[in-house]
Amino acid sequence: MSKYDVAVIGSGPGGYVAAIRCAQLGMKTAIIEKYNTLGGTCLNVGCIPSKALLDSSHHYEDAIKHFADHGIDIPGEVKINFKKMIERKQGVVDMTTKGIVFLMDKNKIDVYHGIGSFKDATHIEIDGEKKETIEATNTIIATGSKPSTLPFITIDKERIITSTEALSLTEIPKHMIVIGGGVIGLELGQVYRRLGAEVSVVEYMDRIIPTMDGAQSKELTKVMKKQGVKFYVSHRVSAVERKGKEVTVTATNKKDEEVTFTGDYCLVSVGRRPYTDGLKLENAGVKANERGQVEVNDHLQTNVSNIYAIGDVIRGAMLAHKAEEEGVLVAEILAGQKPHIDYNLIPGVVYTWPEVASVGKTEEQLKEAGIAYKSGQFPMRALGRSRASGDTDGFVKVLSDATTDEVLGVHMVGARVADLITEAVTAMEFRASAEDIARMSHAHPTYAEAVKEAALAATENRPLHI
Ligand code: FAD
Ligand code: NAD
Repeated sequence: MSKYDVAVIGSGPGGYVAAIRCAQLGMKTAIIEKYNTLGGTCLNVGCIPSKALLDSSHHYEDAIKHFADHGIDIPGEVKINFKKMIERKQGVVDMTTKGIVFLMDKNKIDVYHGIGSFKDATHIEIDGEKKETIEATNTIIATGSKPSTLPFITIDKERIITSTEALSLTEIPKHMIVIGGGVIGLELGQVYRRLGAEVSVVEYMDRIIPTMDGAQSKELTKVMKKQGVKFYVSHRVSAVERKGKEVTVTATNKKDEEVTFTGDYCLVSVGRRPYTDGLKLENAGVKANERGQVEVNDHLQTNVSNIYAIGDVIRGAMLAHKAEEEGVLVAEILAGQKPHIDYNLIPGVVYTWPEVASVGKTEEQLKEAGIAYKSGQFPMRALGRSRASGDTDGFVKVLSDATTDEVLGVHMVGARVADLITEAVTAMEFRASAEDIARMSHAHPTYAEAVKEAALAATENRPLHI
């Protein structure tokens, strides 16, 4: 039987990064993945394919809507080759997952394909092409998550679908009804809207992206409405039925009226659930809570001392970079180091266009906590860079402590803010004040100038360009 210092179950961004860091620190490491390809949800049916389709559909939208503004005339009709678009997406996925095989090889990590399950706290059975058992001094559970649904919905994977199917459709929907105005609903809703589908987003809460800052919800709603997406907030879905090629969604609005939506596809994007099916946690005595999350302490250690858990399968934001940080943390703890994660500084991004990005506390959270703060906001339309590219929607908002001026939260909507948010994370990691950011030179002309201007507005209410 092969023996390892560490076995990692699951090869998503949490698991494969944990395995690499363990190997870098000199541990003999194995990784177990039930599918044929490595990379988990993120690389196969999550972050990477969704961004590939967002980019392809964005190019199409630019060609039909914006090229003419730049003086580029296209003789003849611009056509979508949807089959090619989906094939390209798959090509990007294949290239990326193969990269993980290379990384496992480079770091001398043994890869097992098959369903991993606990025989006991130190033995893992692998049910793949052959059945085998390995021994591991420590195990990291990184089994991720799966789409969740509502009790009355049957996901048929043809017309009533999750993000996984929405990334591999064979036709462009005529009318896609999206249940859930969160990250998946908005990113994939925008893809299909750009490609010509009618898109109706039905959201339970009174605003889309309800966990982000209210100003971001408002701005994204405004811009996506202009793009033709229809929003039905404060709508509680009560039934989803399919008849042939038609799907009907029934919901109740704020006035208690019943509303029905009829389309050819329904995307269910109401969140994801931690995934531990088949893991046989009970054989090792590992506890999960009532939400199905594996319970961990601050060191991400489960109730069984040699078993750790990371990523979507535990509490916290379901984000690839959060899972990666946790993978590194556990590896370093196993090596006797004292790493730390500041969860407040894990940024959140929605990759619509304009993009939406956040770090730290929202205004709603500061109000609720009774923290006195200053707020400075700067619109993208006031930037030369935005006017040059034509990306004038959005803003940057900096929230800082009313007394100390320490930056408490930064919230953005606009072009490339997924990249800009890193400046805010860096500043907050070093506990910068808004004035620190305001006094740093920002290259001109860039979108980043909006961060400086918003910081100037927060610190002394003296933006320069508005
Ligand atoms: P996963 O990536 O889910 O990996 C878990 C792996 O474990 C899987 O490969 C699974 O097959 C394997 N596994 C499970 N059980 C077993 C078992 N018993 N034996 C062996 N293997 C097993 N996050 C971002 O930060 N940015 C984004 O842009 C983004 N976009 C997304 C878009 C979509 C459409 C979706 C669905 C998600 C997106 N996410 C994004 C979220 C991101 O994909 C997850 O947060 C991330 O993948 C979690 O990583 P993980 O390692 O915890 O788990
Ligand atoms: P989500 O939690 O982002 O959004 C779910 C939405 O559905 C919420 O707005 C919620 O209020 C709504 N909802 C819940 N029940 C409902 C009901 N009965 N009727 C109508 N609306 C209802 O979840 P998601 O969009 O499914 O994404 C799942 C996870 O994947 C998220 O946690 C997210 O972090 C991750 N993800 C991240 C990215 C990214 O980082 N860009 C992209 C995609 C997915």
